[in-house]
Amino acid sequence: MIQFVDLRKEYQEIKEETDQAIQRVLERGWFILGKELETFEKEFSSYIGVKHAIGVNSGSDALYLAIKALGIGPGDEVITVSHTFISTVDAIVRNSARPVFVDIGPETYTIDVPQIEKAITDRTKAILPVHIYGHPANIDPIIEIAEEYGLYVIEDASQAHGAEYKGRKVGSIGHVACFSFYPTKNLGAYGDAGAIVTNDDELAEKLRMMRNYGSSKKYYHEFIGVNSRLDEIQAAILRVKLRHLDEWNERRRKIAEMYNELLENSDVITPVEKEWAKHVYHLYVIRHKDRDKLQQYLLENGIKTQIHYPVPVHLQKAYLDLGIRVKLPVTERISREVLSLPMFTHLTYYEIKNIAKVMRDASDS
Ligand SMILES: *Cc1c(COP(=O)(O)O)cnc(C)c1O
Repeated sequence: MIQFVDLRKEYQEIKEETDQAIQRVLERGWFILGKELETFEKEFSSYIGVKHAIGVNSGSDALYLAIKALGIGPGDEVITVSHTFISTVDAIVRNSARPVFVDIGPETYTIDVPQIEKAITDRTKAILPVHIYGHPANIDPIIEIAEEYGLYVIEDASQAHGAEYKGRKVGSIGHVACFSFYPTKNLGAYGDAGAIVTNDDELAEKLRMMRNYGSSKKYYHEFIGVNSRLDEIQAAILRVKLRHLDEWNERRRKIAEMYNELLENSDVITPVEKEWAKHVYHLYVIRHKDRDKLQQYLLENGIKTQIHYPVPVHLQKAYLDLGIRVKLPVTERISREVLSLPMFTHLTYYEIKNIAKVMRDASDS
């Protein structure tokens, strides 16, 4: 059986460093808001190329807190996509703001920039593009629109640690960006974790207080915040893994290249990497007319795959009460065609060849 994601070999590769890092925290006896987080925040912000990183509990909290810290709330609108993981949009709704959906482009599956302006109203406060699957959204024209209308740009970079847009790391371009360190992400903790990055000093300070009960001095609270911290053990683990991120992203790119070659001239549509982009293949997503049948055939032949995502956010049961009526033809079509093939740093050439062969057999059968 070829798993969709298997993190065991990756741990073996970094076992010594990781075990030592965890041990170091246990022996120090300091578990929340300490040296490891402070150092990780410095290392991660310098990796992304921004002034500040603020570690939080999860990518979901990063998005929720970033939106809140920008003062976006009831009556406000945020323009985003429906083709994403649900928590991108939940973060808007949890702040009592309204998500306004724009369709995606059929090549990179990121927000279709020419459609953004039509969605802007006098209530619009921000544009929230998602660098989906590890491919950057076309962010320069998004920034231009945002500047023209006085809007914030909030990047959801949860699937794109290390991805680049015209040579700049994603997460360094918008006003603020959010990362998830969920275990299977390109940079993943061994538990839940996330971060917000920004160049805005004031916003960073506010976020540091927000994640810690609205407090910067113990037992003095300036506003009502939450408890959302990235703990010392996870920070220590992330410091180890950050040192391997570039090498691991290169491996993902190599795996994608192998898939692309082996699936050339078959009946699947392989992923695109735009000339202005460096894709980091959080997911390797193909499209196929008969997606469900192909997935079943792969499973029968010992290959596990997943669908990201089978139901767009605007059609989710959780969203029906919001009364969002919108037609998103590309989003809706893509959700019926996409299939994510196994993708993780230690997938072998032998396994990739086997997967490609089974895929070709599927179209002959
Ligand atoms: C993983 C992910 C999130 C949420 O991150 P969690 O750490 O699981 O809360 C948000 N947006 C996108 C696009 C994601 O892939």
